[in-house]
Amino acid sequence: MTRAAQRPTTLRLVASAAAVIALATGCTSQPDVHTALTGIAPKPLPAPAGDFTAGMSEPVADPVYPAHGNPSIDVLHYGLTLGWAPQKKTLTGTAELTIRAAKPVTELSLDFAGGLAVDAATVAGLPVTVARHGDKLVLPLADPLAKGAKIVATIAYHGTPKPVAFPSHRGDAAEGIGMRATADGSAWTMQEPYGAFTWYPCSDQPGDEATYDIDLTAPPGWTGIAGGTATGTPGQYHSADPVATYLVTVAFGKYDKTTATGPHGIPLTYWTRTGTDAALLASLKQTPKRLDWLEKRFGPYPFPTAGAVVVDSDSAMETQQLLTIGAKAVTGLPPKETAQEIDHVLVHELSHHWFGDSVGPRDWRGIWLNEGFAMYSEGLYMIDTGFASHASWLAWARKADAKYRAKAGPPGNYHKDDFAAANVYFGPAVMLDEIRTAIGDKAFFALARDWVQTQRNTQQDRASFTAFVNKHTGRNLKPVIDKWLDSPTTPS
Ligand SMILES: [Zn+2]
Repeated sequence: MTRAAQRPTTLRLVASAAAVIALATGCTSQPDVHTALTGIAPKPLPAPAGDFTAGMSEPVADPVYPAHGNPSIDVLHYGLTLGWAPQKKTLTGTAELTIRAAKPVTELSLDFAGGLAVDAATVAGLPVTVARHGDKLVLPLADPLAKGAKIVATIAYHGTPKPVAFPSHRGDAAEGIGMRATADGSAWTMQEPYGAFTWYPCSDQPGDEATYDIDLTAPPGWTGIAGGTATGTPGQYHSADPVATYLVTVAFGKYDKTTATGPHGIPLTYWTRTGTDAALLASLKQTPKRLDWLEKRFGPYPFPTAGAVVVDSDSAMETQQLLTIGAKAVTGLPPKETAQEIDHVLVHELSHHWFGDSVGPRDWRGIWLNEGFAMYSEGLYMIDTGFASHASWLAWARKADAKYRAKAGPPGNYHKDDFAAANVYFGPAVMLDEIRTAIGDKAFFALARDWVQTQRNTQQDRASFTAFVNKHTGRNLKPVIDKWLDSPTTPS
């Protein structure tokens, strides 16, 4: 997630020296329901491949947001067939969930916005009557599921998605999280830490990743876009690498598509809104250069494709294989500074593909693992490109840490109504800088590269990070990690 939405933390360099100014700153099963509601017959998704073992997780109850997600189940795969009606602002969908029982279960409880209507549901191919409890959807099971048993549930639904409150005081908090329909008939998502449930039934927690097949239908002139690898059939996307719900993105709108090729042939796609986003597109075209910079430090880009979709948001997200970039998050400064801000935000979000997307947090206590590495990647890029000196970056980051640590708590135990405040960005980035200074560049970049490349598609936490760092360096760096994550004030 970008820190650009938190304008107080924008770093600007004054030309003379390193002066620092803190600005004020697949496979649907109910085509009949779908067709009846949209008038559009869904395209058949590719046949599901294998048994979805790539989507296996060991979910835990989230210690920060325990009301979200269901740690008793492990969703292996989501097949989402979604139609969008821009004039009515209606989403009509079928979700097919392949679920593994992580514990013995007697029912399937999912997160799903109470404002969306369920039209039909099945479990193991048989129709069931669902129960709704607020934003929980409960599907009954004919027989209890033993631990490890798998079952397929389908839910057909429709309605107008609405975002829910973002548990944060960030500058972009007012827009909420989840999917929203806009006045012009577009729809888009911005949904960290839990907003996926506003548009599809899911276990909405970072510790339960799954593979996806998404099939989007929109009227002529409109485009449905999702993260994942395009299958070749318009509107269809496949994610073979597991994705956390907060890293899924879908947008419907009037879009222009630009394609390019990144380092060693990575296919790139930039979706910009027709008639706008020229500055963003110009910067997006430099994605190969940024990927190259990141790969030189952290090893190969860990996914088969990359790109971005531009939406009308105040935020930006590292959604997997396709960034979701809010145009309002990166504009509003003078042209040169806007270009720099876009550059920095894009490096930040791209770096999350190594730190957050490929190696994800087991639960929301671990957001510092995402943002610390992304903020530090962004900082190193600022220094490498001459935007900041190391000293000016460090002074800026320490100052921001002091301010936000006092407001939102230490990064390892932040206030739950201050999700993704600057405290989880700057302090952990300075912690990484302290580790780099202690062990040297060669050992540090080997550590960062191995952290990702040896643990692709896993979820990690503070204990595993500390153990990895100590093993990799042969030193005891736990005191450094603990002081930066736990201290109520900025460590000296
Ligand atoms: Zn971020």
